[in-house]
Amino acid sequence: VQYYLDRINQHKNLNAFNEVFDEEALRNASFIDQKLKEGKAGRLAGMIIGIKDNICYKGHQVSASSRILEGFTSVYSATVIERLLAEDVIIIGRCNCDEFAMGGSNETSYYGPVKNFKDIKRVSGGSSGGSAVAVQADLCLAALGTDTGGSVRQPCSFCGVIGLKPTYGRISRHGIIAYASSFDQVGPITRSVEDSALLLEVLAGSDDYDSTAALNPVPSYSASLKTTGKKSIAYIQEILESEGVDQEIKDLMRKKIEQLQADGHVVEPVSFAYLDYVVPTYYVLTTAEASSNLSRFDGVHYGYRSPNATDTETIYTKTRTEGFGEEVKRRIMLGTFVLSSGYYDAYYAKAQKVRRLIKNKTDEILRKYDFILTPTTPTAAFNIGEIVKDPIVMYLEDIFTVQASLAGIPAISLPAGNNAQGLPLGLQLLAPAFAEGDLLNFSAYFL
Ligand code: GLN
Repeated sequence: VQYYLDRINQHKNLNAFNEVFDEEALRNASFIDQKLKEGKAGRLAGMIIGIKDNICYKGHQVSASSRILEGFTSVYSATVIERLLAEDVIIIGRCNCDEFAMGGSNETSYYGPVKNFKDIKRVSGGSSGGSAVAVQADLCLAALGTDTGGSVRQPCSFCGVIGLKPTYGRISRHGIIAYASSFDQVGPITRSVEDSALLLEVLAGSDDYDSTAALNPVPSYSASLKTTGKKSIAYIQEILESEGVDQEIKDLMRKKIEQLQADGHVVEPVSFAYLDYVVPTYYVLTTAEASSNLSRFDGVHYGYRSPNATDTETIYTKTRTEGFGEEVKRRIMLGTFVLSSGYYDAYYAKAQKVRRLIKNKTDEILRKYDFILTPTTPTAAFNIGEIVKDPIVMYLEDIFTVQASLAGIPAISLPAGNNAQGLPLGLQLLAPAFAEGDLLNFSAYFL
Protein backbone atom coordinates (compact mmCIF):
# COMPACT_ATOMS: atom_id res chain seq x y z
CA VAL A 1 0.00 0.00 0.00
CA GLN A 2 2.80 2.38 0.91
CA TYR A 3 4.47 1.69 -2.44
CA TYR A 4 1.32 2.69 -4.32
CA LEU A 5 0.62 5.68 -2.07
CA ASP A 6 4.13 6.97 -2.81
CA ARG A 7 3.62 6.51 -6.53
CA ILE A 8 0.23 8.21 -6.41
CA ASN A 9 1.90 11.13 -4.69
CA GLN A 10 4.70 11.30 -7.26
CA HIS A 11 2.22 11.25 -10.12
CA LYS A 12 -0.46 13.62 -8.85
CA ASN A 13 -0.20 15.56 -12.11
CA LEU A 14 -1.92 12.66 -13.93
CA ASN A 15 -5.13 13.50 -12.01
CA ALA A 16 -6.10 9.83 -11.94
CA PHE A 17 -7.73 9.89 -8.50
CA ASN A 18 -10.57 12.03 -7.16
CA GLU A 19 -9.75 10.81 -3.68
CA VAL A 20 -7.14 8.52 -2.13
CA PHE A 21 -8.15 6.48 0.92
CA ASP A 22 -4.61 6.53 2.32
CA GLU A 23 -5.06 5.99 6.05
CA GLU A 24 -7.85 3.51 5.58
CA ALA A 25 -5.88 1.50 3.01
CA LEU A 26 -2.89 1.29 5.34
CA ARG A 27 -5.17 0.19 8.18
CA ASN A 28 -6.76 -2.49 6.02
CA ALA A 29 -3.34 -3.65 4.93
CA SER A 30 -2.39 -4.46 8.50
CA PHE A 31 -5.71 -6.26 9.12
CA ILE A 32 -5.21 -8.35 6.04
CA ASP A 33 -1.61 -8.99 6.94
CA GLN A 34 -2.85 -10.46 10.18
CA LYS A 35 -5.42 -12.60 8.36
CA LEU A 36 -2.71 -13.86 6.03
CA LYS A 37 -0.60 -14.90 8.99
CA GLU A 38 -3.58 -16.79 10.39
CA GLY A 39 -4.23 -18.42 7.03
CA LYS A 40 -7.69 -16.82 6.86
CA ALA A 41 -7.22 -14.31 4.05
CA GLY A 42 -9.50 -14.17 1.01
CA ARG A 43 -8.66 -15.01 -2.59
CA LEU A 44 -7.70 -11.45 -3.50
CA ALA A 45 -5.70 -10.59 -0.40
CA GLY A 46 -2.99 -8.13 -1.33
CA MET A 47 -4.72 -6.91 -4.45
CA ILE A 48 -4.77 -3.13 -4.29
CA ILE A 49 -7.33 -1.56 -6.54
CA GLY A 50 -8.82 1.75 -7.58
CA ILE A 51 -12.53 2.10 -8.22
CA LYS A 52 -14.17 4.36 -10.75
CA ASP A 53 -15.90 7.20 -8.99
CA ASN A 54 -19.37 6.10 -10.06
CA ILE A 55 -19.36 2.99 -7.86
CA CYS A 56 -20.88 3.33 -4.39
CA TYR A 57 -18.74 2.40 -1.41
CA LYS A 58 -20.50 2.78 1.93
CA GLY A 59 -19.26 5.70 4.03
CA HIS A 60 -17.21 7.12 1.15
CA GLN A 61 -17.96 9.97 -1.16
CA VAL A 62 -19.05 9.18 -4.70
CA SER A 63 -19.23 11.95 -7.28
CA ALA A 64 -19.46 10.50 -10.82
CA SER A 65 -17.01 13.39 -11.37
CA SER A 66 -19.98 15.76 -11.30
CA ARG A 67 -20.54 18.91 -9.33
CA ILE A 68 -24.10 17.80 -8.67
CA LEU A 69 -22.88 15.03 -6.34
CA GLU A 70 -20.42 17.23 -4.47
CA GLY A 71 -20.27 16.15 -0.85
CA PHE A 72 -22.53 13.11 -1.31
CA THR A 73 -21.62 10.02 0.72
CA SER A 74 -22.78 6.52 -0.23
CA VAL A 75 -25.18 4.94 2.24
CA TYR A 76 -24.51 1.42 0.96
CA SER A 77 -21.88 -0.41 -1.07
CA ALA A 78 -22.33 -1.69 -4.59
CA THR A 79 -22.51 -5.46 -4.89
CA VAL A 80 -19.15 -5.42 -6.70
CA ILE A 81 -17.56 -3.65 -3.72
CA GLU A 82 -19.07 -6.12 -1.23
CA ARG A 83 -17.71 -9.01 -3.27
CA LEU A 84 -14.21 -7.56 -3.55
CA LEU A 85 -14.03 -6.72 0.15
CA ALA A 86 -15.19 -10.23 1.05
CA GLU A 87 -12.04 -11.48 -0.72
CA ASP A 88 -9.81 -8.95 1.07
CA VAL A 89 -9.11 -6.51 -1.71
CA ILE A 90 -7.74 -3.17 -0.54
CA ILE A 91 -9.43 -0.21 -2.18
CA ILE A 92 -6.94 2.62 -2.47
CA GLY A 93 -9.13 5.37 -3.85
CA ARG A 94 -11.78 6.53 -6.27
CA CYS A 95 -10.69 7.20 -9.82
CA ASN A 96 -11.51 10.22 -11.95
CA CYS A 97 -13.86 9.66 -14.90
CA ASP A 98 -15.98 11.56 -17.38
CA GLU A 99 -18.99 13.19 -15.75
CA PHE A 100 -21.61 10.45 -15.24
CA ALA A 101 -19.43 8.26 -17.51
CA MET A 102 -20.43 10.37 -20.51
CA GLY A 103 -17.42 10.88 -22.69
CA GLY A 104 -14.49 9.24 -24.36
CA SER A 105 -11.56 11.34 -23.18
CA ASN A 106 -12.10 12.05 -19.47
CA GLU A 107 -12.35 15.73 -20.38
CA THR A 108 -15.95 16.14 -19.18
CA SER A 109 -14.97 15.52 -15.54
CA TYR A 110 -15.75 18.35 -13.12
CA TYR A 111 -12.34 17.56 -11.63
CA GLY A 112 -10.43 18.09 -14.85
CA PRO A 113 -8.93 15.76 -17.44
CA VAL A 114 -6.81 12.71 -16.66
CA LYS A 115 -3.45 12.68 -18.41
CA ASN A 116 -2.03 9.78 -20.33
CA PHE A 117 1.12 8.46 -18.61
CA LYS A 118 2.77 7.83 -22.00
CA ASP A 119 2.42 11.50 -22.98
CA ILE A 120 0.82 13.91 -20.55
CA LYS A 121 -0.34 16.20 -23.34
CA ARG A 122 -2.68 13.44 -24.45
CA VAL A 123 -6.00 12.18 -23.12
CA SER A 124 -6.35 9.03 -21.08
CA GLY A 125 -9.44 8.06 -23.01
CA GLY A 126 -12.69 7.66 -21.18
CA SER A 127 -14.90 7.49 -19.50
CA SER A 128 -12.91 5.25 -17.10
CA GLY A 129 -9.77 7.33 -17.75
CA GLY A 130 -8.61 7.58 -14.14
CA SER A 131 -8.95 3.81 -13.67
CA ALA A 132 -6.97 3.07 -16.84
CA VAL A 133 -4.17 5.54 -16.06
CA ALA A 134 -3.98 4.31 -12.45
CA VAL A 135 -3.15 0.84 -13.79
CA GLN A 136 -0.99 2.14 -16.65
CA ALA A 137 1.16 4.26 -14.29
CA ASP A 138 1.31 1.55 -11.62
CA LEU A 139 -0.65 3.56 -9.06
CA CYS A 140 -2.56 0.39 -8.13
CA LEU A 141 -2.52 -3.22 -9.28
CA ALA A 142 -5.93 -3.22 -10.95
CA ALA A 143 -9.00 -1.03 -11.19
CA LEU A 144 -12.71 -1.19 -11.79
CA GLY A 145 -14.26 0.76 -14.60
CA THR A 146 -17.72 0.78 -16.07
CA ASP A 147 -18.45 0.29 -19.73
CA THR A 148 -21.65 1.49 -21.39
CA GLY A 149 -20.28 1.92 -24.91
CA GLY A 150 -16.55 1.40 -24.51
CA SER A 151 -15.58 3.19 -21.33
CA VAL A 152 -13.44 0.34 -20.07
CA ARG A 153 -12.05 -0.78 -23.41
CA GLN A 154 -11.23 2.56 -25.06
CA PRO A 155 -9.11 4.08 -22.27
CA CYS A 156 -7.36 0.72 -21.88
CA SER A 157 -6.50 0.84 -25.56
CA PHE A 158 -5.13 4.39 -25.18
CA CYS A 159 -3.11 3.37 -22.12
CA GLY A 160 -1.77 -0.04 -23.16
CA VAL A 161 -3.58 -2.08 -20.50
CA ILE A 162 -6.25 -4.80 -20.55
CA GLY A 163 -9.95 -3.94 -20.29
CA LEU A 164 -12.82 -6.41 -20.23
CA LYS A 165 -16.48 -5.59 -20.73
CA PRO A 166 -18.42 -8.67 -19.68
CA THR A 167 -21.74 -9.87 -21.09
CA TYR A 168 -24.62 -7.60 -20.10
CA GLY A 169 -25.89 -9.02 -16.81
CA ARG A 170 -22.75 -11.00 -15.98
CA ILE A 171 -21.98 -8.58 -13.13
CA SER A 172 -24.55 -6.90 -10.89
CA ARG A 173 -25.16 -3.19 -11.44
CA HIS A 174 -26.48 -2.65 -7.92
CA GLY A 175 -24.77 0.43 -6.51
CA ILE A 176 -23.40 1.66 -9.83
CA ILE A 177 -24.56 5.18 -10.70
CA ALA A 178 -26.70 4.50 -13.74
CA TYR A 179 -25.97 6.03 -17.12
CA ALA A 180 -27.83 3.80 -19.60
CA SER A 181 -29.23 0.84 -17.71
CA SER A 182 -29.64 -1.55 -20.64
CA PHE A 183 -25.94 -1.13 -21.49
CA ASP A 184 -23.99 -0.47 -18.26
CA GLN A 185 -21.52 -3.12 -17.10
CA VAL A 186 -18.65 -3.08 -14.63
CA GLY A 187 -15.35 -4.29 -16.03
CA PRO A 188 -11.87 -5.04 -14.66
CA ILE A 189 -8.82 -3.09 -15.83
CA THR A 190 -5.58 -5.00 -15.37
CA ARG A 191 -2.08 -5.63 -16.65
CA SER A 192 -2.52 -9.37 -17.01
CA VAL A 193 -5.27 -11.62 -18.33
CA GLU A 194 -4.91 -13.71 -15.16
CA ASP A 195 -5.89 -10.76 -12.96
CA SER A 196 -8.81 -9.99 -15.26
CA ALA A 197 -10.05 -13.59 -14.95
CA LEU A 198 -9.56 -13.59 -11.19
CA LEU A 199 -11.49 -10.35 -10.75
CA LEU A 200 -14.29 -11.46 -13.06
CA GLU A 201 -14.89 -14.68 -11.15
CA VAL A 202 -15.20 -12.72 -7.91
CA LEU A 203 -17.40 -9.96 -9.38
CA ALA A 204 -19.75 -12.06 -11.52
CA GLY A 205 -22.94 -13.82 -10.54
CA SER A 206 -26.57 -13.33 -9.70
CA ASP A 207 -27.68 -10.76 -7.17
CA ASP A 208 -30.96 -10.31 -5.30
CA TYR A 209 -30.51 -6.54 -5.68
CA ASP A 210 -30.32 -6.57 -9.49
CA SER A 211 -32.88 -8.62 -11.40
CA THR A 212 -30.91 -8.11 -14.63
CA ALA A 213 -27.86 -9.88 -13.18
CA ALA A 214 -27.77 -13.26 -14.90
CA LEU A 215 -28.40 -16.52 -13.08
CA ASN A 216 -25.79 -18.39 -15.16
CA PRO A 217 -23.26 -20.16 -12.95
CA VAL A 218 -19.84 -18.49 -12.69
CA PRO A 219 -17.01 -20.70 -13.91
CA SER A 220 -13.56 -20.49 -12.42
CA TYR A 221 -12.17 -18.30 -15.19
CA SER A 222 -8.68 -18.10 -13.68
CA ALA A 223 -8.29 -21.83 -13.04
CA SER A 224 -9.23 -22.71 -16.59
CA LEU A 225 -6.80 -20.32 -18.30
CA LYS A 226 -4.93 -22.69 -20.56
CA THR A 227 -3.50 -22.85 -24.01
CA THR A 228 -6.25 -22.38 -26.49
CA GLY A 229 -7.14 -24.69 -29.37
CA LYS A 230 -7.46 -23.60 -32.99
CA LYS A 231 -10.11 -20.93 -33.29
CA SER A 232 -12.13 -19.31 -36.02
CA ILE A 233 -12.10 -15.54 -36.09
CA ALA A 234 -14.01 -13.09 -38.22
CA TYR A 235 -12.79 -9.61 -38.98
CA ILE A 236 -14.97 -6.89 -40.42
CA GLN A 237 -13.89 -6.14 -43.95
CA GLU A 238 -15.36 -2.61 -43.96
CA ILE A 239 -13.02 -1.60 -41.13
CA LEU A 240 -9.88 -2.41 -43.08
CA GLU A 241 -11.24 -0.36 -45.97
CA SER A 242 -12.36 2.61 -43.90
CA GLU A 243 -10.70 5.99 -44.39
CA GLY A 244 -11.55 6.99 -40.83
CA VAL A 245 -9.14 4.48 -39.29
CA ASP A 246 -5.45 5.33 -38.77
CA GLN A 247 -3.22 3.55 -41.28
CA GLU A 248 -1.02 2.22 -38.47
CA ILE A 249 -4.05 0.59 -36.84
CA LYS A 250 -5.08 -1.04 -40.12
CA ASP A 251 -1.51 -2.29 -40.57
CA LEU A 252 -1.53 -3.70 -37.06
CA MET A 253 -4.81 -5.52 -37.79
CA ARG A 254 -3.40 -7.01 -41.00
CA LYS A 255 -0.25 -8.15 -39.25
CA LYS A 256 -2.24 -9.79 -36.49
CA ILE A 257 -4.53 -11.51 -39.00
CA GLU A 258 -1.53 -12.97 -40.85
CA GLN A 259 0.08 -14.07 -37.63
CA LEU A 260 -3.07 -15.84 -36.44
CA GLN A 261 -3.46 -17.54 -39.80
CA ALA A 262 0.18 -18.65 -39.72
CA ASP A 263 -0.55 -20.17 -36.30
CA GLY A 264 -3.29 -22.28 -37.86
CA HIS A 265 -6.40 -20.35 -36.85
CA VAL A 266 -9.12 -19.67 -39.38
CA VAL A 267 -9.33 -15.90 -39.87
CA GLU A 268 -11.81 -14.66 -42.46
CA PRO A 269 -13.38 -11.39 -43.56
CA VAL A 270 -17.09 -10.85 -43.00
CA SER A 271 -19.26 -7.96 -44.03
CA PHE A 272 -21.07 -5.96 -41.35
CA ALA A 273 -23.36 -3.58 -43.19
CA TYR A 274 -24.54 -1.82 -40.02
CA LEU A 275 -21.21 -0.22 -39.17
CA ASP A 276 -22.50 3.27 -40.05
CA TYR A 277 -25.54 2.81 -37.80
CA VAL A 278 -23.94 1.63 -34.58
CA VAL A 279 -22.96 5.07 -33.28
CA PRO A 280 -26.30 6.84 -34.01
CA THR A 281 -28.26 3.90 -32.58
CA TYR A 282 -26.12 3.87 -29.47
CA TYR A 283 -26.49 7.61 -28.87
CA VAL A 284 -30.26 7.69 -29.39
CA LEU A 285 -30.79 4.85 -26.91
CA THR A 286 -28.22 5.83 -24.28
CA THR A 287 -29.24 9.49 -24.17
CA ALA A 288 -32.88 8.39 -23.80
CA GLU A 289 -32.00 6.15 -20.88
CA ALA A 290 -29.71 8.78 -19.38
CA SER A 291 -32.38 11.50 -19.49
CA SER A 292 -34.58 9.25 -17.40
CA ASN A 293 -31.85 8.03 -15.02
CA LEU A 294 -30.51 11.51 -14.33
CA SER A 295 -33.92 12.92 -13.38
CA ARG A 296 -33.22 11.81 -9.80
CA PHE A 297 -30.59 14.54 -9.40
CA ASP A 298 -32.97 17.26 -8.35
CA GLY A 299 -31.22 19.09 -5.53
CA VAL A 300 -33.41 17.34 -2.98
CA HIS A 301 -32.26 13.73 -2.86
CA TYR A 302 -28.53 13.96 -3.46
CA GLY A 303 -25.49 16.20 -3.19
CA TYR A 304 -25.42 19.74 -4.45
CA ARG A 305 -28.27 22.22 -4.02
CA SER A 306 -28.06 25.64 -5.58
CA PRO A 307 -27.67 28.38 -2.96
CA ASN A 308 -29.62 30.63 -5.35
CA ALA A 309 -32.80 28.54 -5.18
CA THR A 310 -35.84 30.19 -3.65
CA ASP A 311 -38.64 27.64 -4.14
CA THR A 312 -39.23 24.07 -5.33
CA GLU A 313 -39.12 25.01 -9.00
CA THR A 314 -35.81 26.84 -8.70
CA ILE A 315 -34.32 24.10 -6.52
CA TYR A 316 -34.71 21.86 -9.58
CA THR A 317 -33.76 24.27 -12.31
CA LYS A 318 -30.88 26.13 -10.68
CA THR A 319 -29.42 22.99 -9.11
CA ARG A 320 -29.43 21.17 -12.45
CA THR A 321 -28.24 24.22 -14.39
CA GLU A 322 -25.30 24.75 -12.03
CA GLY A 323 -24.68 21.11 -11.13
CA PHE A 324 -24.46 19.41 -14.52
CA GLY A 325 -21.73 20.04 -17.08
CA GLU A 326 -22.28 20.83 -20.74
CA GLU A 327 -22.00 17.27 -22.09
CA VAL A 328 -24.43 15.88 -19.53
CA LYS A 329 -26.95 18.61 -20.33
CA ARG A 330 -26.56 17.95 -24.05
CA ARG A 331 -27.38 14.30 -23.51
CA ILE A 332 -30.34 14.95 -21.21
CA MET A 333 -31.80 17.25 -23.86
CA LEU A 334 -31.12 14.83 -26.71
CA GLY A 335 -32.61 11.97 -24.71
CA THR A 336 -35.69 13.95 -23.72
CA PHE A 337 -36.16 14.92 -27.36
CA VAL A 338 -35.98 11.37 -28.76
CA LEU A 339 -38.46 10.19 -26.13
CA SER A 340 -40.94 13.03 -26.61
CA SER A 341 -44.32 12.37 -28.13
CA GLY A 342 -44.21 13.00 -31.85
CA TYR A 343 -40.54 11.96 -32.09
CA TYR A 344 -40.60 8.73 -30.11
CA ASP A 345 -41.44 6.50 -33.08
CA ALA A 346 -39.05 8.23 -35.44
CA TYR A 347 -36.04 8.03 -33.09
CA TYR A 348 -36.37 5.92 -29.97
CA ALA A 349 -38.55 3.13 -31.35
CA LYS A 350 -36.58 3.10 -34.60
CA ALA A 351 -33.28 2.85 -32.73
CA GLN A 352 -34.62 -0.10 -30.72
CA LYS A 353 -35.36 -1.88 -33.99
CA VAL A 354 -31.92 -1.12 -35.37
CA ARG A 355 -30.38 -2.37 -32.12
CA ARG A 356 -32.15 -5.68 -32.72
CA LEU A 357 -30.82 -5.88 -36.29
CA ILE A 358 -27.28 -5.16 -35.08
CA LYS A 359 -27.60 -7.78 -32.36
CA ASN A 360 -29.02 -10.40 -34.72
CA LYS A 361 -26.27 -9.87 -37.29
CA THR A 362 -23.55 -9.91 -34.64
CA ASP A 363 -24.96 -13.10 -33.10
CA GLU A 364 -25.16 -14.65 -36.57
CA ILE A 365 -21.45 -13.99 -37.16
CA LEU A 366 -20.66 -15.42 -33.73
CA ARG A 367 -22.56 -18.62 -34.46
CA LYS A 368 -20.13 -19.24 -37.29
CA TYR A 369 -16.96 -17.89 -35.66
CA ASP A 370 -15.59 -18.02 -32.12
CA PHE A 371 -14.59 -14.35 -32.07
CA ILE A 372 -14.77 -11.10 -33.99
CA LEU A 373 -11.52 -9.15 -34.17
CA THR A 374 -11.54 -5.34 -34.55
CA PRO A 375 -9.35 -2.44 -33.51
CA THR A 376 -10.56 -1.00 -30.19
CA THR A 377 -10.40 2.56 -31.51
CA PRO A 378 -9.93 4.24 -34.90
CA THR A 379 -7.06 6.40 -33.57
CA ALA A 380 -4.45 6.45 -30.82
CA ALA A 381 -4.84 8.83 -27.85
CA PHE A 382 -5.42 12.35 -29.13
CA ASN A 383 -4.30 15.64 -27.60
CA ILE A 384 -6.16 17.10 -24.65
CA GLY A 385 -8.47 19.81 -25.99
CA GLU A 386 -8.23 18.55 -29.58
CA ILE A 387 -11.72 17.19 -30.19
CA VAL A 388 -13.68 17.86 -27.03
CA LYS A 389 -15.31 20.88 -28.70
CA ASP A 390 -16.79 18.69 -31.40
CA PRO A 391 -19.18 16.13 -29.87
CA ILE A 392 -19.86 14.36 -33.18
CA VAL A 393 -16.17 13.66 -33.76
CA MET A 394 -15.90 12.46 -30.17
CA TYR A 395 -18.92 10.16 -30.57
CA LEU A 396 -17.45 8.63 -33.73
CA GLU A 397 -14.44 7.49 -31.68
CA ASP A 398 -16.80 4.85 -30.24
CA ILE A 399 -17.47 3.16 -33.57
CA PHE A 400 -15.77 -0.15 -32.71
CA THR A 401 -16.73 -0.46 -29.07
CA VAL A 402 -20.49 0.15 -29.21
CA GLN A 403 -21.28 -2.95 -31.31
CA ALA A 404 -20.65 -5.29 -28.35
CA SER A 405 -22.57 -2.92 -26.08
CA LEU A 406 -25.61 -2.84 -28.36
CA ALA A 407 -25.46 -6.64 -28.70
CA GLY A 408 -24.91 -7.19 -24.95
CA ILE A 409 -21.93 -9.48 -25.57
CA PRO A 410 -18.48 -9.59 -23.94
CA ALA A 411 -15.49 -7.82 -25.47
CA ILE A 412 -11.92 -7.25 -24.39
CA SER A 413 -9.32 -4.68 -25.40
CA LEU A 414 -5.78 -6.03 -25.51
CA PRO A 415 -2.58 -4.01 -25.93
CA ALA A 416 -1.23 -4.83 -29.38
CA GLY A 417 1.69 -2.49 -30.00
CA ASN A 418 2.59 1.17 -30.33
CA ASN A 419 2.35 3.65 -33.16
CA ALA A 420 5.35 5.57 -34.51
CA GLN A 421 5.01 8.11 -31.69
CA GLY A 422 5.15 5.34 -29.10
CA LEU A 423 1.45 5.60 -28.21
CA PRO A 424 -0.30 2.34 -27.31
CA LEU A 425 -2.73 0.73 -29.75
CA GLY A 426 -5.32 -1.85 -28.77
CA LEU A 427 -7.13 -4.62 -30.57
CA GLN A 428 -10.52 -5.89 -29.52
CA LEU A 429 -12.02 -9.37 -29.43
CA LEU A 430 -15.80 -9.90 -29.24
CA ALA A 431 -17.29 -13.21 -28.14
CA PRO A 432 -20.76 -14.74 -27.81
CA ALA A 433 -22.78 -13.96 -24.68
CA PHE A 434 -21.34 -15.63 -21.57
CA ALA A 435 -18.28 -16.92 -23.43
CA GLU A 436 -15.93 -14.95 -21.14
CA GLY A 437 -14.04 -18.16 -20.35
CA ASP A 438 -13.15 -18.73 -23.98
CA LEU A 439 -12.46 -15.06 -24.50
CA LEU A 440 -10.01 -14.86 -21.60
CA ASN A 441 -8.27 -18.09 -22.63
CA PHE A 442 -7.74 -16.82 -26.12
CA SER A 443 -6.67 -13.40 -24.83
CA ALA A 444 -3.87 -14.96 -22.78
CA TYR A 445 -2.59 -16.58 -25.95
CA PHE A 446 -3.26 -13.52 -28.14
CA LEU A 447 -0.93 -11.35 -26.05
N1 GLN B 1 -17.85 7.27 -25.11
C1 GLN B 1 -19.10 6.62 -24.86
C2 GLN B 1 -20.11 7.63 -24.37
O1 GLN B 1 -19.74 8.73 -24.20
C3 GLN B 1 -18.94 5.51 -23.89
C4 GLN B 1 -19.13 5.88 -22.48
C5 GLN B 1 -19.23 4.72 -21.56
O2 GLN B 1 -19.03 3.57 -21.93
N2 GLN B 1 -19.62 5.02 -20.34
O3 GLN B 1 -21.25 7.33 -24.15
